[in-house]
Amino acid sequence: MTDSDRTTYDVAVVGGGPAGLTAALYTTRLGHDTVIVNRGGGRAAMMQDTHNVIGITEDVSGGEFLQTAQQQVQDYGATYRRGFVSDIDRADSRFYLTVDGEDDLLVERVVLATGFSDARPDPPLPPTGRGLHYCLHCDAYMFVDESVYVMGHGDSAAYVAMIMLNFTDEVDLLTRGDEPTWSDETDRMLRAHPIDVIHEEITGMNRGPDGWLESFEFEDGRVREYRGGFPMYGSEYNNALAADLGCDLNDDGTVVADDHGRTSVDGVYAVGDLVQGHNQIPVAMGQGAKAGIAIHMDLRPFPRSVEEIEARGPVDADEVPGISQSLRETARAFREAEAAESAADD
Ligand SMILES: Cc1cc2nc3c(=O)[nH]c(=O)nc-3n(C[C@H](O)[C@H](O)[C@H](O)COP(=O)(O)OP(=O)(O)OC[C@H]3O[C@@H](n4cnc5c(N)ncnc54)[C@H](O)[C@@H]3O)c2cc1C
Repeated sequence: MTDSDRTTYDVAVVGGGPAGLTAALYTTRLGHDTVIVNRGGGRAAMMQDTHNVIGITEDVSGGEFLQTAQQQVQDYGATYRRGFVSDIDRADSRFYLTVDGEDDLLVERVVLATGFSDARPDPPLPPTGRGLHYCLHCDAYMFVDESVYVMGHGDSAAYVAMIMLNFTDEVDLLTRGDEPTWSDETDRMLRAHPIDVIHEEITGMNRGPDGWLESFEFEDGRVREYRGGFPMYGSEYNNALAADLGCDLNDDGTVVADDHGRTSVDGVYAVGDLVQGHNQIPVAMGQGAKAGIAIHMDLRPFPRSVEEIEARGPVDADEVPGISQSLRETARAFREAEAAESAADD
């Protein structure tokens, strides 16, 4: 396949969660032809309700949130595609992407926003968001003065159990028959906090008519009531593309990126849950915004520097504006539609 057979864009964003969609919003509105390729699913799509996002009410689900965002970026002129990026090759500072098994895209810059998957413990488990929760910063507020469990046998489970004492005085740590692997120091801390550690495996579960968890049954016959809790079994980072491109990874599997999302490979950016930091939508969006602006500063043709003016001459009137014809038309149509709508409202 030759380069001319491929669809070209300035920017490809791999992953269409809050981080990737925000990066795409910025690159598009700043004048760069952008394609988002998204397999679907992901952590934001798992949200039953949205917390901690100012301006978004709690009743908005992850699916609704993402649908609105997908429509927004397309309205601004980005291309949104359902697909799986299995391979990215770099040659001459450009990137060749394989989507759904086809050699497909040729781009100048790549944003990796592929996130991670939470490792899920064995059933019985309540539904996600109705007693099974993966986001402490999002959901701890829901459990103030409620009975809460934390599931797991490592340091992170023990820590989260102790952290939950900031919100409630009823916290159980459920190891489910696994041998604890937390450190001696953690063990000392744990014993100094009012937490019940239950080692027996869960054998049954009861849910209320609203679907929420009510209690777990244990193999020794005990039944303990819980409103909800947090499984702590680690994260599987979707870092294969980053690793294949040669991006540096941290020991935990996150991709090393600077404050603008730049990885150790020129032209490759990483944002959102794929990089280290608080796994939150506002953080993912902030990282996407920063990466989008950094890419704009990297790709924008003007102002032409003194060196470029010496090499290529002054900017001709017919070389401006720098934005592509298709984005130019979309931006004008968008503005006209907005103006027509506000005239109709008056
Ligand atoms: C149950 C749950 C509830 C949560 N609730 C909240 C909340 O209320 N408030 C809050 O602030 N945060 C919440 N979070 C955290 C929040 O969802 C994440 O921090 C956020 O979604 C991270 O955004 P992201 O774009 O980095 O990743 P994701 O949202 O996970 O999106 C990554 C996307 O990349 C796609 N992808 C991966 N690999 C490929 C590939 N090779 N090709 C194409 N596409 C690919 C995935 O399919 C996915 O669509 C919650 C998390 C969970 C699990």
